Amino acid sequence: MADIRIANPIRTAGILRRYGLTAKKKYGQNFLTDEGILQEIVDASGVKEGDLAVEIGPGIGAMTEFLCERADQVLAVEIDRNLIPVLNETVGHFDNLTVLNADILKTDIGAWAKENAPGKKIRVVANLPYYITTPILMGLLEGKAPLESITVMVQKEVGLRMISGPGTKDYGALSLAVAYYASPRIVAEVSREAFDPMPNVESVVVTLDRYKNPPVDVSDEKLLFDVIRASFSQRRKTLANGLSHDPGLGLSKEEVNSVIKACGWDERVRGETLTLEGFARLTEMIYNLNSRTS
Ligand code: SAM
Repeated sequence: MADIRIANPIRTAGILRRYGLTAKKKYGQNFLTDEGILQEIVDASGVKEGDLAVEIGPGIGAMTEFLCERADQVLAVEIDRNLIPVLNETVGHFDNLTVLNADILKTDIGAWAKENAPGKKIRVVANLPYYITTPILMGLLEGKAPLESITVMVQKEVGLRMISGPGTKDYGALSLAVAYYASPRIVAEVSREAFDPMPNVESVVVTLDRYKNPPVDVSDEKLLFDVIRASFSQRRKTLANGLSHDPGLGLSKEEVNSVIKACGWDERVRGETLTLEGFARLTEMIYNLNSRTS
């Protein structure tokens, strides 16, 4: 069996049957059974000697196997404890692998890496559980771990949101968060047939190369993201409406109109037309207004 990849439809089905397991919907389990796709993902991730590869949701080890062959060290974080004995059997022989039975949303990758893989470049690679794609991505982007890159399989619609720009229908808070932290590109389109069981949606693989420094300067990063979220909370409404109805920002209609005017925009401008630079300008205006009034 050793020369047959885990990412093989017959081997995957055999492993699951032997352990009496079926894919759990609540954990977003869709196992990759296409060796070629895995090769493509791992190539796109750029994982190589000297790296710590962090895999989110190793499942039964299909991608883990490839990562262990390429990286110096691999950290695989899996929430489903029923998969831990399976991983022991399928990839337990790799001495550069650590499997954590934990929730990725509660795992401090940076702290783990600092203690266990100091000096290694950290690259995240994953076939993500789709039910928590956005919180995982936001956690990785906003988190303190010094990530080099993030390469993830996501639902196609989410992939399009991650790479889109102003004025397009997919543009929103996720596009802006990605644009602030990283340069994104779609590196593969993946059909449903590559998974067992088949998901209901098409998928894409997106690589994010993390910037050393964000492309715009703001005095208060949290305020930038509060402003972005408020601007998109009322889609198809004006920016003024979104900002003045947000209790967190605490701005009056007059204050909102004055900052929009100070930015040189029409009062009916919509959030979905603004670039990241535009949002940075708006945030600075609000920051200055808050500093004057506090
Ligand atoms: N990497 C495997 C593959 O490509 O075949 C499995 C990918 S499957 C789409 C998603 C994996 O993430 C499952 O193994 C699931 O149990 C795991 N998972 C779901 N939620 C998780 C969480 N909060 N933290 C860590 N792993 C999670």
